[in-house]
Amino acid sequence: MDAQLQRRLIDCLVRTVEAHAEELTGLDRAVGDGDHGLNMQRGFTEVAAQAERLAGLPAGEALQGIGRILLMKIGGASGPLYSTLFTALGKAWPEPPDAPGIARAFGAAVDAVQRIGKSEAGQKTMLDVLVPVRTELAQGGPDLAARVRACALHSAQATVPMKAVRGRASYLGDRSIGHLDPGARSSSLLIAAVCETLAPEGPATKEHGVG
Ligand code: ADP
Ligand code: MG
Repeated sequence: MDAQLQRRLIDCLVRTVEAHAEELTGLDRAVGDGDHGLNMQRGFTEVAAQAERLAGLPAGEALQGIGRILLMKIGGASGPLYSTLFTALGKAWPEPPDAPGIARAFGAAVDAVQRIGKSEAGQKTMLDVLVPVRTELAQGGPDLAARVRACALHSAQATVPMKAVRGRASYLGDRSIGHLDPGARSSSLLIAAVCETLAPEGPATKEHGVG
């Protein structure tokens, strides 16, 4: 992947976290300890500081570099999980990066998150976005970026009626029902941002306030 595209992808991740930090913190205030946006911001501010260096690395190494930064900076439950996602994706990254290879690498990364989180889809976490996106990606075919983007955004919304059984939100039991999971929302935003950078869409198709 060329350094310019890599830089645009890194920048879009950073901008997305910056633009949604308050929203994510607000979501975490409802079901957790109100720090998810701040945690993500700490991580991605450091990614921004190292963006030029990261953009110049081979893609697999850049992803692992982001993983290391997120482990050091995010903290909380989501730090090790996001770090694992990027690191495992980087380790399995295909060269050249074709769609089936990327789908396999993403699958390996989601497996790694499941192992670290001891969790699975249906428990009201980021995995409720990552698992359906893994399936959508694996299907391949036309309009893949647009389909993955829509899948990520809808899957995050689908955490609202779920009851949390992992992470801090599980302390609330039934009271976690009716709220959007902050980690599901942040994963959906990051995935949507990458998809939009790879295949820009017009404003007419936008929903759920990504930007
Ligand atoms: P903390 O809960 O330590 O304050 P954050 O607020 O940064 O960490 O992140 C919370 C998010 O992390 C949750 O909304 C959920 O999506 C995700 N999460 C927490 N625990 C797990 C887990 N065991 N498996 C998968 N995701 C998890
Ligand atoms: Mg929190």
